[in-house]
Amino acid sequence: MRVSEISGRGLWARNLIKAGSVIISLRPYSFALASRYLDSHCSSCVATSNSGLLRCTRCRTVRYCNTTCQTNDWSLHRLECSALTKWAKSAPSKNLSVPSDAVRCLGRILWQKQKEGFDSSWSKEIDALQSHRHSLEPHVVENNTHLAHSLVRYLGLSSPGDLSEFGILSAGDFADLISRFVTNTFALTSPSLTPVGVSVSPLVALFNHSCDPGAVIVFPRSSRNPAEEPQMQVIALRDISPNEEASIDHLLEALSLTSDRCQILTSYIDTTLPRSLRQAALKETYDFTCQCELCHDDNIIDPRESIWCPKSCGGMCPAPSDESEPCQCVKCRAVVATPTFITDALHIGQEALAKATSIQDTDHDKALQLTTNIIPRLVSAGLTPSCHPLLPLIGLHKSLLLSSLSADMAQELLDETIRIAAKHYMGLSAILRDGHPVRAVALAELGKLLAVDEPCPVTSPPTNIASLPSGPARLKAAYETLVRARHELMIGFGRNNDGGELGRNIRETVVSLEKELGVWTQGIHNTLQDLLNSSRK
Ligand SMILES: [Zn+2]
Ligand SMILES: [Zn+2]
Ligand SMILES: [Zn+2]
Ligand SMILES: [Zn+2]
Repeated sequence: MRVSEISGRGLWARNLIKAGSVIISLRPYSFALASRYLDSHCSSCVATSNSGLLRCTRCRTVRYCNTTCQTNDWSLHRLECSALTKWAKSAPSKNLSVPSDAVRCLGRILWQKQKEGFDSSWSKEIDALQSHRHSLEPHVVENNTHLAHSLVRYLGLSSPGDLSEFGILSAGDFADLISRFVTNTFALTSPSLTPVGVSVSPLVALFNHSCDPGAVIVFPRSSRNPAEEPQMQVIALRDISPNEEASIDHLLEALSLTSDRCQILTSYIDTTLPRSLRQAALKETYDFTCQCELCHDDNIIDPRESIWCPKSCGGMCPAPSDESEPCQCVKCRAVVATPTFITDALHIGQEALAKATSIQDTDHDKALQLTTNIIPRLVSAGLTPSCHPLLPLIGLHKSLLLSSLSADMAQELLDETIRIAAKHYMGLSAILRDGHPVRAVALAELGKLLAVDEPCPVTSPPTNIASLPSGPARLKAAYETLVRARHELMIGFGRNNDGGELGRNIRETVVSLEKELGVWTQGIHNTLQDLLNSSRK
């Protein structure tokens, strides 16, 4: 750990760290499942179970794999259990009968502090997390106040003064606790990156941010011991060199260049967003202006904000923004003739994205109708698949289509889902480096779709769409995609972890496809042999 003038505390490589190696592996100091995942996940080890989880008979809110997981969680859940029961009794409606994951996670932090002692290293590490409460924007302050009120109610306190039993002696202390929590929370994710809750780790919070990070934070589910899960890991996405000479650092800082090459950086935000949205998100929650190469360099064309060349030379142009000068293709210098048509499409796309995202769980069909209508419009305006908001719309469209797939689906729906999954991967791979877990998961999804047994076409496929390969050719495409996905998963979820739970799952599919392809090859061979034999006769 080193302190730099520009970026504050940070973590640096002492030895060469190879891509795909696990830099840190630990159980978060605290975590909580989001309310909607409380029934499907164990509250102690975060495993999912098909055979059903046992429910705590007192609060009837949390579930566990077995009595071992329940016992492991009991020292904290004992206190949490009665708080949950009281909360449910006074809840105004059924869907408010469980407090949010943030409230429950904060509750666990305070109970653990009491248990460990306020002078313990555990409590000191939590207290040492950065707080930005003096520089927060008004609506963040409002959210934090709301969170604080809910927490007081959850803990069953009659006034904030009662917080002294948790070592909180003033309103400032309390505001700091909330601000520290909000600023230093990490998403708790499934092995395929679905956010299922929140987690806190003071050590992992020490990593500084880059929009093109050399390391990522994942929960690959690699431990054989449930008591160690959920295991939070920081994994190198590329080789990170040791930085033996601190003087180089100072030189780089003097030239106001960040020394990304040796500092281990993770990302705090979604790095598929364009610069203006990334900067806004970082300012709002973390109160700093990012100086990374991606945010700093005005010369590079960012695929997150790009359109295809109007003369179709294969090059890209920066997407026009409202105030920008004429946009030119970087390759052939052709000028974009209709910038307002494109800026309009960008605005409409942004609105459709916000709307479809907000209704995806409540009105699936309407969300799907929105994404189905808007994507062709953005494509015809020339947006590349990596351009915002086309990329997140493609991602949303894909997940909506995936949730409509069923065992007796039509061939057309499956093929359409495969096409959109391929486009999604194409967009992501223009932005994220090889082995980035987001990209790796998208490729694994595409491979799994290609490996699905083809249903019989109901009608003949529309002639205006390039048809996908079928039969053995499709199986071969599935195989090659999954082999490639496995390579990426081994980086993003760690080589020692065998690519995490998803990597292991893909390995099994690859092995069974190998067998199936073997049968196919054998089948073709036999048919050829029969033909040859018959022609000889
Ligand atoms: Zn469990
Ligand atoms: Zn309980
Ligand atoms: Zn940046
Ligand atoms: Zn061009």
